[in-house]
Amino acid sequence: MSKIIRKTEELKEWRRNLKSDINFIPTMGNLHNGHQKLISTAKSSNCNTNLLSIFVNPLQFESKEDLKSYPKTVDKDIEIAFSNGADVIFIPNIIDIYPKNNKSISYLKASKELSSALCGLTRVGHFDGVCTVVYRLLKLIQPKNLFLGEKDWQQLLIIKNLLEEKKFNINVISVPTQRDSDGVPFSSRNNLLSKNEKEIIKLFSNELSHAKKIFEKDKKIDLKQLTKKLESKNISIEYLEHLHPYSLKKVQTKDNISILAGAIKCGKTRLIDHVFLMKRNPIIAIDGPAGSGKSTITKLIAKELNLLYLDTGAMYRAISWLFKKEKINYAKESELKKILNDISIIFKSNSLCQQDVFINDFCVTEAIRSQEISSIVSKISSIKKVREFLVNEQRKIGKSGGLVAEGRDIGTTVFPDAELKIFLTASIDERAKRRKLELELRGTEEIDFNQLRELISKRDFEDSTREISPLKKAKDAIELLTDGYSINQMVEKIINIYNLNIPKEIQRE
Ligand code: C5P
Repeated sequence: MSKIIRKTEELKEWRRNLKSDINFIPTMGNLHNGHQKLISTAKSSNCNTNLLSIFVNPLQFESKEDLKSYPKTVDKDIEIAFSNGADVIFIPNIIDIYPKNNKSISYLKASKELSSALCGLTRVGHFDGVCTVVYRLLKLIQPKNLFLGEKDWQQLLIIKNLLEEKKFNINVISVPTQRDSDGVPFSSRNNLLSKNEKEIIKLFSNELSHAKKIFEKDKKIDLKQLTKKLESKNISIEYLEHLHPYSLKKVQTKDNISILAGAIKCGKTRLIDHVFLMKRNPIIAIDGPAGSGKSTITKLIAKELNLLYLDTGAMYRAISWLFKKEKINYAKESELKKILNDISIIFKSNSLCQQDVFINDFCVTEAIRSQEISSIVSKISSIKKVREFLVNEQRKIGKSGGLVAEGRDIGTTVFPDAELKIFLTASIDERAKRRKLELELRGTEEIDFNQLRELISKRDFEDSTREISPLKKAKDAIELLTDGYSINQMVEKIINIYNLNIPKEIQRE
């Protein structure tokens, strides 16, 4: 299907008869590689109809001159859009979107918090104009998915906020900023630049990416010094801010991810760019009681997102196994201290691409899953010295981030600053059923359902009532009940939440 629609009435008619869902890519035309990536991402995401709109929205321009000079290349855009996977192109004119004397047009206001930073400070009314046009287009098109670039990060946040406010059931799929080989982000406004001005935006983008590298090493940034440096290169800065990436408020020392965003003037053209600064790669914390499906789900997420997988329960189990084997009297402080000093726990991938657990060179992968270990592990994991030792080991493993860790206290104690926290639960019957099946599949032990239910309840009680870091949901964790969902559905759900919460630009390839 290659179709061009120019009138809203025609679009409404077409929409009424359409059977499939829509991936919507709103643009102002003058398509470049950034737009191409949006279209091709939409095309490769699913079998929906890909609809691209080209509409230069007058409401988001502060000056007539800027609107007039905005590059318009419709014929070329049509060619680019179709050749990259668009099925339908909607090219309305102004009267179609804003009919004269039409009282039903609601002129919207963008979120005050989000629009009172960065571009919102000088571009008064710009984001209100964006919200108004996006709202009108979404009402007309009723898409399932909305594809937006992260290049306009503030706009992306404001549109997500609008969808929430208006209770639109539309997924936002963001695409990382696409850059030219010289590091400059693709932008339609680049076409308005002279050769010298192109050099200036290049310098600016390169300085931002240099600041990112320095930040990764020093974990801090000196905005004043950077401003001075940019000014010394004759870069005319409109703003340069270091902010929390979601609230767009001043960054706090505890924030791992922040955004360094700037706007500069190149002659008459205003250009923006940003980088995400990270103290470490993102961490996902998955906590929950025994049998909630944590392990299976966490492993699959790690694989899918190319993150390191850390099973902290296996570490408590391994220590329990060793204490049992060595007949450690852990009530005796000196004996406990001595053995903890000599413990080394490592995870290694085996030939089946699964993780083996080694404690002091003993491979205990299978042994730690026995009922015998399950029945003593809660007691051992409530010992302060054991917890201190393991939490320290876990933090060492997670030092540079890029991992998904599962346990009981990951979101509350081990990585309280994890970028995403999930608390998985399931009813006790469901959990006992799963554990029974797991043990049967392993074929090692026979165990009665009620007995297993009892053991799990006991472990829940011990884990959630112990004095030090008991099992509990972190305040900022998202609770998910797994009853009635398949493993794959849960994995998909969590990956969606991750994609919605973590900018694509900082996710691992
Ligand atoms: O997750 P799994 O069932 O393997 O965990 C075994 C036990 O290890 C838990 O019941 C709990 O007592 C302990 N544990 C803990 N803190 C963690 C992970 C596990 O106390 N972060």
